[in-house]
Amino acid sequence: MTVLNSIPIDLQPTAVCKTLRLPPDGDPAVVQRLIDTACELIDAQALYTTCFIEEKQAAAVKISGKLLHSSILRKNLDPVERVFPFVLTLGRRLDDQIRKTPDLLDQYYLDAVGVMALEAAGHHLKKHLQDRFALGKMSFMAPGSLPDWPIEEQKPLFDLLGDAKAAIGVRLTDSFLMLPAKSISGIYFPAEVSFYSCQLCPRKRCEGRKAPFDEKLAQKYGIKPGQ
Ligand code: SF4
Repeated sequence: MTVLNSIPIDLQPTAVCKTLRLPPDGDPAVVQRLIDTACELIDAQALYTTCFIEEKQAAAVKISGKLLHSSILRKNLDPVERVFPFVLTLGRRLDDQIRKTPDLLDQYYLDAVGVMALEAAGHHLKKHLQDRFALGKMSFMAPGSLPDWPIEEQKPLFDLLGDAKAAIGVRLTDSFLMLPAKSISGIYFPAEVSFYSCQLCPRKRCEGRKAPFDEKLAQKYGIKPGQ
């Protein structure tokens, strides 16, 4: 297991303005204050491990003795032998502050900046893996992002990572959600072509969408409409 501590978070005011739909000609000090407030509360850490795939089944893969059930993950790992299960968190303080913030709009802003910070921390981890293991393009999948890989699959994923609570303070609730809430988990894998779960997700309105729904790709993965 490897732990990355104090992951740097670099948020650009213009990108934050765009995400929060703030007027670009507004007071830049307001956006900067929001970024500073969030960054002061963030302690980004990641835990990851390197695993080799032991067995590829029809709709599951066995990694270090744990079966992960997802036909899409299985398909994505077709040409892959080595994967990187991970969990990444911004820590508890941002969660606590979001909960304590009385104004709903301020709460929304802080939460949205937290989502951007999580994404930035994810890019840092990806770059670290690419540099350390001399890898090219990489993609990731997260349990719970698609019905094909349900949230219950957090359990075997966390089993692969050992004691994530002791390492970086992340634990699973009985319903397999992560605490602190501003955390992400999943598997990074080498990929010739970038893959985003969003390409297979038909959800109409989603602020977190990273790529448009791709009907042809969904057909290729055997996803039926409405699935
Ligand atoms: S579109 Fe939204 S809900 Fe669907 S996979 Fe992407 S981020 Fe998740």
